[in-house]
Amino acid sequence: MTEMENKAVEYAVQQGVATLTMQSAPVNALSRAIRIGLIEGIESALNDASVKAIVVTSSLPIFSGGADISEFSGGDLSPMLPEVLDKIENATKPVVAVLPGPAFGGGLEVALACHHRITFAGNKVGLPEVNLGILPGAGGTQRLPRLADVQTSLEMIVTGKPTSVVKLPGVFDKISDKPEHLLEDTKAYLQGLTPDKAIKRTCDISLTMTDETKGVFDAVTAQTKKATRGFFAPLKCIEAVRGAYTLAFDDGLKNEGKLFMECMNTPQARAQQHFFFAERAAGHVSDFDKNTPERSIEKVAIIGAGTMGGGIAMNFANAGIPVTMLELKEEALEKGLALIRKNYENSAKKGKLTQEQVESRMALLSGTTSYDDLSDVDLVIEAVFEKMEVKKTVFSTLDKVCKPGAILASNTSTLDIDEIATATSRPEDVIGLHFFSPANVMKLLEVVKAEKTSAEVIKTCMKMAKRIRKVAVLVGVCFGFVGNRMIEPYGREANRLLLEGATPEQVDRVLTEFGMPMGPFTMGDMAGLDIGYYVRQSRQEHISHDPAYGAVADRLVEKGRNGLKTGRGAYNYEPGSRVPIPDPEVLEIAKQEAERLGVQQRSDICDEEILVRVMYSLINEGAAILEEGIAAKSSDIDVIYVYGYGFPVYRGGPMQYADEVGLGTILDKLTTYRDQLGEYGKMWLEPSDLLVKLAQEGGSFRSYNAKA
Ligand code: NAD
Repeated sequence: MTEMENKAVEYAVQQGVATLTMQSAPVNALSRAIRIGLIEGIESALNDASVKAIVVTSSLPIFSGGADISEFSGGDLSPMLPEVLDKIENATKPVVAVLPGPAFGGGLEVALACHHRITFAGNKVGLPEVNLGILPGAGGTQRLPRLADVQTSLEMIVTGKPTSVVKLPGVFDKISDKPEHLLEDTKAYLQGLTPDKAIKRTCDISLTMTDETKGVFDAVTAQTKKATRGFFAPLKCIEAVRGAYTLAFDDGLKNEGKLFMECMNTPQARAQQHFFFAERAAGHVSDFDKNTPERSIEKVAIIGAGTMGGGIAMNFANAGIPVTMLELKEEALEKGLALIRKNYENSAKKGKLTQEQVESRMALLSGTTSYDDLSDVDLVIEAVFEKMEVKKTVFSTLDKVCKPGAILASNTSTLDIDEIATATSRPEDVIGLHFFSPANVMKLLEVVKAEKTSAEVIKTCMKMAKRIRKVAVLVGVCFGFVGNRMIEPYGREANRLLLEGATPEQVDRVLTEFGMPMGPFTMGDMAGLDIGYYVRQSRQEHISHDPAYGAVADRLVEKGRNGLKTGRGAYNYEPGSRVPIPDPEVLEIAKQEAERLGVQQRSDICDEEILVRVMYSLINEGAAILEEGIAAKSSDIDVIYVYGYGFPVYRGGPMQYADEVGLGTILDKLTTYRDQLGEYGKMWLEPSDLLVKLAQEGGSFRSYNAKA
């Protein structure tokens, strides 16, 4: 590729300044074309005697979003970014990075390799590589600490969070007050460059490890170990930055490269990169295209101001969208609105909101007990009691009062949206919007398409999710949709293991060591064991063939042990505390139930058995969901599990984890326990057809997606 052909970087010389303008929409990802363009631009500028200084900048509102991660899977990668940066840093004419917008990852590394950096006050930069399970591999860990202080450098590299440029005075030589002033400030800066200051190579700065610096490293290491339990890359980031203080620049770079490769070759890096794409892919669905019309959502109503209704309303108010909440009784309405205010006030106390923000959000919320007030809303979300009859009554009333084209959504966790839609004369406008609790916090939204939901309604809801800062995943109708349907076998096995002689703390330990934020028994206690109890009651036709199904959990509820809220569940709790305390009474109940049901208790239940039965059952259900088309792709299931259930992102989600383990292994182990567990195994641990098929042909969920 020659300079003339390179469209990714425009090269122009004016008044002795060569400007290399990256212009590869949308984010100037540092593709091979940009890398070649930068090298060629620098060479041209060095070879042109009329050029006195070089500017590297961008025509987009972003300087660069960093590496082109689609290149991670291979291809011709030369020249690699470090080679480009070497060329920039060693240029014999001053090179100035001018940032008209954020620079992330490799983008910031480009800027750090330049001799000078200019930006404007509102800008942000960051090194987010750690979120992909790796570390900045083009000198970021060596150059940033040479310009910023050790604490800031470590924080930026270890957390991956964007940082305001005003917090980085050592990094930027000039910070304009406004982006509009960048051009003239750059001109003035270039004119003011004296020969002795013209070439300022970051690599020439030497750092030493003082006692104070060592103290910072020790503190950040201790804190990181705690905050990023289970993650591999964060500690490697610290090790790489340490090299900036203990090694010569070139050796520090080599050390960074070695650590980068160590990270890159881990299942974690594969998982986190998979997840990065999975999250973006969740928004790409085949049900609509760019020609599908979209409806505008400017006014929303929520039916039911309880736990979920309140949280859902907050999402819209936070996004500046007015919400009317409807309850049958004034008291319930007042209670709901008061709870929302309390939530906002708490955020204000923590400094997350100003008092004005609290008031402006509250001003967007209004209450009513009359359906007549819903005649002009664009979207209604029903969040009343989980009873089909109640929901149908609500929907038939909505059908009468809502304007044509209003979207009628239900937040049901389990009920059949197709049936709910029959209560209206407009099933094409009916959809499920399944928020997770607490609805104002959890990022996941399952968008549930019913049989007759129109493409327009699906598209509008998927786009609306972005406005209220949710990650939406489109799923089909079945009991529990994707997330809760998969959690059922997970909880079932956990409870069965308790009946067979495992303890709640053993099961929970295995799952937390795996990386779940809490084990199934702690989770059940938090959610309330009565919830599962009522679900089992309502699903007798699906479970009554197994008299031991959920038996221990049922007995716990019958003894008033409903979980955290009653101070006793699978564990005991001190008043006001959430710390689970093992209770021998629970084991005694399990023992009695086992005797009553003729289940042999065993003392040899090992951690592997627990993980396989609980986690592989969940994966097995995921395979069935995929096969039935309830989820369109396995990566959607991964997004649901990471954002809805705290599945460790460093495992990429349950389906990515299964691919990493190998579907052959998953199948073997699952069938081993199925066979060992006799009748019970036959009832519940039968592998799904898709799992068997993919395992037998040496396939993966990923390969299945590619074919689907
Ligand atoms: P909740 O009991 O806290 O709130 C329900 C509210 O609806 C109450 O305030 C009640 O007064 C009101 N209500 C009942 N019937 C009504 C009617 N006919 N018209 C107007 N208001 C009415 O329940 P919740 O936990 O908020 O659950 C609501 C829905 O959300 C259920 O369908 C539930 O399955 C679903 N959901 C709950 C969770 C969760 O974790 N709680 C998660 C996802 C989905």
